[in-house]
Amino acid sequence: MSTTHVPTELEALSELEISTAEELAGRFPLTLNENPASQADYEQVMSELTFGNKFTDHMAHMRWTKEEGWSERGIIPYGPLALTPGAAVLHYSQSVFEGIKAYRHADGSIWTFRPAYNAARLNHSASRLALPKVDRDDFLASLVDYVRADEKWVPTGDGTSLYLRPLLFASEEFLGVHASSVVDYYVIGSPSGPYFTSGFTGVAIWVVKGYHRAGPGGTGSAKCGGNYAASLMPQLQAAEKGFSQVCFLDTYEEKYLEELGGMNMFVVMADGTVRTPELTGVILEGGTRSAICKMLRSQGTPVREEMIALDELVAGIRSGEVAEVFACGTAAVVTPITRLANDDFDVELPVGETTKRIHKQLTDIQMGYAQDPFGWMYRLV
Ligand SMILES: *Cc1c(COP(=O)(O)O)cnc(C)c1O
Repeated sequence: MSTTHVPTELEALSELEISTAEELAGRFPLTLNENPASQADYEQVMSELTFGNKFTDHMAHMRWTKEEGWSERGIIPYGPLALTPGAAVLHYSQSVFEGIKAYRHADGSIWTFRPAYNAARLNHSASRLALPKVDRDDFLASLVDYVRADEKWVPTGDGTSLYLRPLLFASEEFLGVHASSVVDYYVIGSPSGPYFTSGFTGVAIWVVKGYHRAGPGGTGSAKCGGNYAASLMPQLQAAEKGFSQVCFLDTYEEKYLEELGGMNMFVVMADGTVRTPELTGVILEGGTRSAICKMLRSQGTPVREEMIALDELVAGIRSGEVAEVFACGTAAVVTPITRLANDDFDVELPVGETTKRIHKQLTDIQMGYAQDPFGWMYRLV
């Protein structure tokens, strides 16, 4: 009994035919960095991979103005930006971003995962924040040309990748509140190691009441920095109690699960059914979430996208009806949740077999170890 699934707008857009890297290469001409990282610094970064604090020699850039649209496409040396303190983004947070990875396969080729999905989502986010849309071919070409310029920074090895961070922000120098007439787009990249350095272990999640990352009609479904800013204080309070992240509940009743600060959630029932909070417009529509749903449905696993009540979840964990809970997103792929708590309850869960299997199947496709039955992988180099 597989439930029929109507593709979301992002899923439908991600299925369209897209240009190949060969067709797109060269749209962002390269200006070489005259002062790249020294060989010693490069080797140090690549041998001690972390996440998000080391960057490569170059970055992609283009600029939009209201009068001329997008121009100044290029791959330029990575470095600090000259941004006036009057830049609108610093005041009114008109900015959005994406997260996507470049993976090196065993034959040396470099691939990314469903880039058309991220292109569509960037534009979904941009339109909510009154930012200009980025042409899908420009988005793809910026990844192609950037990764080709900094190919040597794509690490080799299980679970490693070059984490790509496209971002779009209001750079007009103006304190009046309006949609910026100047916008900059960048892609920067950070060589990343495996998320789970000490095995596939679980995280403890605090279910927060009283604070929300987003609300109905707000920016919850847009990947914007402001949502993250709103999540940091409850996150800090949870960390003081020993929890690594928080789970947010719906704003009206604080009754239904939404998601973590930067990851979607899944619940695996003992009968094999898999459930995830439905897309209400408040939660972010994750590409990992979408891929997991599609993969499971193709395997005949019933997947239900629905409202999941916290009370019922906790009771199910206690009774054994709920077998596993996990979170997912591009950075960590799949993270088992082994403890859920707040002032009213504290329950534990195992790192389950379904969670492990989903993690392996998805990362095997990404790393090129397994067939790619859905045509998700896109060759960059
Ligand atoms: C990015 C993000 C996710 C995960 O999306 P992926 O496309 O799977 O990386 C989930 N929730 C929030 C709030 C996010 O910003």
